[in-house]
Amino acid sequence: MNSELGEIVSLLLKEGLLTKKNALYAKRVQSKLGPEKTLIETLKDLKYIDEKQVKEVLRANLISLRIGDLLVECGYLSQEKLNAALDIQKNQPEKRIGQIIVEKQYMSENNFIDALSVQLGFRFIDLSIEDVDSSAFENIPVKWCMSNHFLPVRKVKGKTLIAFADPFSKTDIRGAEKLFGKNFTIGIAAPYMIEKKLEKIGSGIINPRAAVDENTAIGIVDSIIGNAIDQGASDIHIEPFEERLQVRYRIDGILIPYKMFPANAATMVAARIKVLCRANIAEKRRHQDGRMTFEHKGNSFDLRTSVFVTIFGEKIVLRILNRIDQIIKFDQIGMQPKMLDRFKKDVLNVPSGVMIITGPTGSGKTTTLYSCVSEISNPQTSIITAEDPVEYVVEGICQCSIDPNINLTYEETLRHIVRQDPDVIVIGEIRDNYSAKVAVHAALTGHKVLTSFHTEDSISGLIRLMNMEIEAFLISSTVVCILAQRLLRKICTHCQGPYTPSSSDLKLLGYGSDDMKKYTLLKGKGCPVCNHTGYRGRIAVFELLVLNEFVKEAILDCRSSYDLRKISMETTGLVTLMEDALSKVSSGVTTLEETFRCIPRLIAPRPIHEINRLLGVS
Ligand SMILES: [Zn+2]
Repeated sequence: MNSELGEIVSLLLKEGLLTKKNALYAKRVQSKLGPEKTLIETLKDLKYIDEKQVKEVLRANLISLRIGDLLVECGYLSQEKLNAALDIQKNQPEKRIGQIIVEKQYMSENNFIDALSVQLGFRFIDLSIEDVDSSAFENIPVKWCMSNHFLPVRKVKGKTLIAFADPFSKTDIRGAEKLFGKNFTIGIAAPYMIEKKLEKIGSGIINPRAAVDENTAIGIVDSIIGNAIDQGASDIHIEPFEERLQVRYRIDGILIPYKMFPANAATMVAARIKVLCRANIAEKRRHQDGRMTFEHKGNSFDLRTSVFVTIFGEKIVLRILNRIDQIIKFDQIGMQPKMLDRFKKDVLNVPSGVMIITGPTGSGKTTTLYSCVSEISNPQTSIITAEDPVEYVVEGICQCSIDPNINLTYEETLRHIVRQDPDVIVIGEIRDNYSAKVAVHAALTGHKVLTSFHTEDSISGLIRLMNMEIEAFLISSTVVCILAQRLLRKICTHCQGPYTPSSSDLKLLGYGSDDMKKYTLLKGKGCPVCNHTGYRGRIAVFELLVLNEFVKEAILDCRSSYDLRKISMETTGLVTLMEDALSKVSSGVTTLEETFRCIPRLIAPRPIHEINRLLGVS
C-alpha cells in the first residue's frame, strides 16, 4: 500500500508526521483532481503536512531516497519520462539518472538543480559567480573530488560547504565522508561547472579530457551521420554552446537529443564536415552551405549542409536527402479505402486538369507528388517536370532541376516545357501568379498538371488560387482536385498499450465521454526502439476536395471560405484533415495528442462512425 503512496509519503508516515487515514483520504482527493496535482501538493493543500516537514524528512533520509522518484512525486517529471530514463540507464549503468534526465532534455539542467534545491532546501551554489576558497582545498586530492563529482567550496563555522553534482549519489556522499567525516554541508551545483572548476584547480596535475584531434573528429563525424541514417533521421543538428557541443536528430519531425560532446570538439568537427562538403575551412565568420555524399553500409547518401555562425562557433545542420528507393507505392501512402478509390478514379485517371497537393513545409507533399507521378508513369505517357530542386530521381520521366545561378529560372523553364509535347506536366510548386497561370493554361490545352501549394487546408488552397489574378471560370474549369495533407507520428508498436482519452480532450472535439468508448485507443509508453518517445514512423492524413458542379458554382459566385467548406462537406463527401486523423486515432494508428499538435481545428468533426463510413473504414 505504502509503495502506491510514494516514497516521500511513506517516509512521512514512518516518522509519524502523517496518519495513514489522512494519507489515504488525500490520495482519494488527488485522484479526483487529475494527474497535474501531486499527492504531496494535495497533502499540503489539506494542511496535513507543511513544506518544512517535507524538507526535513527528505534531508534526514537522503541516502535512502531515489532522485527520480522524488522528481516524479514532486511533479517535476512524468512517470513515463522517468521510466524512459531508467530504461536508458539499464544499458548505460555508468551514468547517473540525473545526468540522463538532463541529457535527454526531460528537464533542463537549471530546472533540475532548481528542483533539488527547492525541494530539499539544499543550497544552490552558482559557481559561475561564487569563488572557491583555496583553504577548503588544503590537503584534498583533486583527483578524488573529480571521480566523486564534488567540489569543496569554503569553510563555514568549521564545516566545509561542498557542491555536489548529485547529492543522491551514495558513492559521491561517501567519497566526501572519507575526507571530511560528517563535517560538511551539502550544496548543489551544475555538474559541468564542478568539473570545470576542478579542472582549473587541478590543471598541471592531471588532464581528464584528452584534446580532440583530427582522427577522433573523423570518428565522431562518421558516428554522428551513420547513427542518424540508422535511426531514420531527416536532419542532424550540431550545435556549439559555451560548455558543450550538442547533437540532435530530427526523427519523424521532432528533434531528439543524441549526444553531447566536450566543447573543444566543436572546431574539429566543423572542420571535418567542411572538408566533406567542400566548404571553405578557413572561413569561420560567415554562413556557408554545401553538399556531400556519405557512404554508409554499402549505400551512398546525399547530404545538404548548412553552416551558420553563432556566438559560440559554427552551428551545422545536415539534411539527409531522400533516396530513390524511398518512393512510396501509391496504395501505401495512407489514404483510407474510399478516398483512395475516389482519388484514383476521379483524379489520377482523368486525362487533363490541375491536381494540387497542399500543406506546410515538411507535410509530405513531395512524397505524395512523386507517388502520383510514378503511379501514372507508363510507356504511352510523356511526363516532364520543373522542380526546385529535383529531390527524387524517377525512372522514365524527364526531370528538370531549376538553377537560378545559371539563369535557368522557373519562368524560363515553364515557358519551354509546354513546347515539349508532354501529356503530364509536373510543376514542383506554385509560388507566384505566373506559375499558377502556366498550370491553368496547360490544363486548358488538354494537359494533366500535377503541382503543390503552400496552404493550411484544401479550401484555403482554393481561396488562395482565386486571389492570384486568375479568372474564376478558369479555376472552375481546370482544377480537378485539391489534396491537403499532414504527417502524424505513428504509435510505436513495440510499446503501445490501450488508454482512455481525457474528458477535456474529447470536449475540444465536441465529443461526449462515451463517443470514443467503442474504439480501442492506443498510446506508446516509450521504449528503446522509439527513442522513448512512444512514436515511430509517420502516417499521412488527407483532406481530398474533388470539385463538383456545386463547388464550381460557388467559385464562380466568389463565395466565402466558410460557404465553400460547407458546400464541399455537404456535396462532395469531403472529410476534413481533422476527421481523417480522428479515424486513424480510432484505429490505434496515432494519438489525439499528435492530432492536436499537427492539425488545425477549423470546424467541429462529425461522429467517428460517420467519418469511418465516409472513408470506407470498417
Ligand atoms: Zn516504443
